Amino acid sequence: RSNAEKFEFQAEVSRLMDILINSLYSNKDIFLRELISNASDALDKIRFLSLTDKDVLGEGDDTKLEIQIKLDKENKILSIRDRGVGMTKEDLIKNLGTIAKSGTSAFVEKMQTGGDLNLIGQFGVGFYSVYLVADYVEVISKHNDDKQYVWESKADGAFAISEDTYNEPLGRGTEIRLHLREEAGEYLEESKLKELVKKYSEFINFPIYLWATKEVDVEVPADEDDSSDDEEKPESTEGEEKEDEDSEKEEDEEKPKTKTIKEKTYEWERLNDVKAIWLRSPKEVTEEEYTKFYHSLAKDFGDEKPMAWSHFNAEGDVEFKAVLFVPPKAPADLYESYYNANKSNLKLYVRRVFISDEFDELLPKYLSFLLGLVDSDTLPLNVSREMLQQHSSLKTIKKKLIRKALDMIRKLAEEDPDEIHDKEKKEVEESKENDEKRGQYAKFWNEFGKSIKLGIIEDAANRNRLAKLLRFETTTSDGKLTSLDQYISRMKSGQKDIFYITGSSKEQLEKSPFLERLKKKGLEVIFFTDPVDEYLMQYLMDYEDKKFQNVSKEGLKLGKDSKDKELKESFKELTKWWKETLASENVDDVKISNRLADTPCVVVTSKYGWSANMERIMQSQTL
Ligand code: ADP
Ligand code: MG
Repeated sequence: RSNAEKFEFQAEVSRLMDILINSLYSNKDIFLRELISNASDALDKIRFLSLTDKDVLGEGDDTKLEIQIKLDKENKILSIRDRGVGMTKEDLIKNLGTIAKSGTSAFVEKMQTGGDLNLIGQFGVGFYSVYLVADYVEVISKHNDDKQYVWESKADGAFAISEDTYNEPLGRGTEIRLHLREEAGEYLEESKLKELVKKYSEFINFPIYLWATKEVDVEVPADEDDSSDDEEKPESTEGEEKEDEDSEKEEDEEKPKTKTIKEKTYEWERLNDVKAIWLRSPKEVTEEEYTKFYHSLAKDFGDEKPMAWSHFNAEGDVEFKAVLFVPPKAPADLYESYYNANKSNLKLYVRRVFISDEFDELLPKYLSFLLGLVDSDTLPLNVSREMLQQHSSLKTIKKKLIRKALDMIRKLAEEDPDEIHDKEKKEVEESKENDEKRGQYAKFWNEFGKSIKLGIIEDAANRNRLAKLLRFETTTSDGKLTSLDQYISRMKSGQKDIFYITGSSKEQLEKSPFLERLKKKGLEVIFFTDPVDEYLMQYLMDYEDKKFQNVSKEGLKLGKDSKDKELKESFKELTKWWKETLASENVDDVKISNRLADTPCVVVTSKYGWSANMERIMQSQTL
């Protein structure tokens, strides 16, 4: 085209496209899901803008927030059209080629080591999946602030943009035209598209239509020669599009006799039901539906189920509905730049209208591993995002969400037969067949335990609830995880404190001289081996009225020994000499101790000083 401007794809994007176009990946279906998801995002955006400015929606058909799919079998074109926000020329250049998103190279790397293409949406490059099935793609787009443009590319390293002076005006929105490859002919079958929309786009909250064939009964004059069957004679249905062969209709007054024949016509067929899952009663939603909903939120279409979910309806001063999920796995970067990244995974809706998925005021950082959605009737609709962020109801919503989230996690433990250490209860539970839940809490702990610890550090109001969720190994737990409640239930009579020791590994700690006497006395000691544990224990001072005592620190009381005083007297001179000799090594004190059994002496940290482990951590800065 003469008015086309040429652009090169950014290098990483180009590599990505090469990979896709040469991919032998068998599940090419995913491109449709990605396009529908983009259409839905664009519709969410225009709907959000329309809250504060109704005019952005325009008039007539442009106000219809919907997605339309059309097939052109003859020319092998599949097109997907939305009446979303659209893209300006600049948007087209930036979004579709010249600026690589942060996920681009990560995704390219994954693909080169045999990663799953199905996850493309998670990396923010879903659009390019069109090249799994098409060798030429046109994106026609009209944004309110610009003219209509066409972006086009044959995935040969370059794309072109031209002002659109030849296609039908879109009004507003985007139409993606896929010129399908020879081997992708199945995507011209209506049944295939219907199946895919059902499978992948069930939770899209806008109507999706297919321009589908329909057999209708048509009355034709009985005597007249049969009008050839393959000629399309449109019934005047509600369809927006009219075929242009109306002229054929002719009234025949003389021969009133008619007969009925079957004719093929086209009409917009609605493919999805948009009753949002969170508006339904939790009792009516099946496990399978929750799982699918999770997959659509996570953009992860594997077959793993979420570990847990909670769907509830909060009533009272602040009303909202919410669904929260614990993913089956922690993302690899969950704790990367934990303190300076905003990574909320909750979508916020106000009265069914999508507002944002970057709303960090809804959950504290330590719960950012949860996925889900909140839909509030109490928040105002027609205010800016900034004003929403300051709305007083948010605090209440957040508080309730935290409670529900922690309840959901507690239940994971309660329903896990492996977690029940009370012998009688255990037998009852074991007789029940809940093998599916066996070991689920250990799995949770493995993936997200660190988040619970960060929660104890950050969230004073819920510290006790979070401490209940804590798991660790101890000197007597035999390699299994145990909880504080279980520890307390095993405390020896007269034992006042909860004992723990910190270090880099259990193996190293097991040899520690600090444990000698405690072991002899049969006292259980918790092993804390995660660097974050040192910080954790600065915040977790007590639990159920029991104090925590680091056994490598000053203050360890193992009960009085009658010989203590006597020993102190007889070694007085020696301890005095040691203290003077070691004064230059920064030793505060030298004392007779009853904490050891075989080892003659040991260096102990003062009560408020850093433990040796903390010194090690600070030196390596591993948190
Ligand atoms: P993501 O959807 O994760 O941002 P994609 O590769 O799917 O990544 O899309 C890239 C960008 O292109 C989107 O962020 C959006 O800005 C733009 N885009 C794609 N499809 C549309 C559309 N139908 N309407 C408006 N913008 C779109
Ligand atoms: Mg996308």
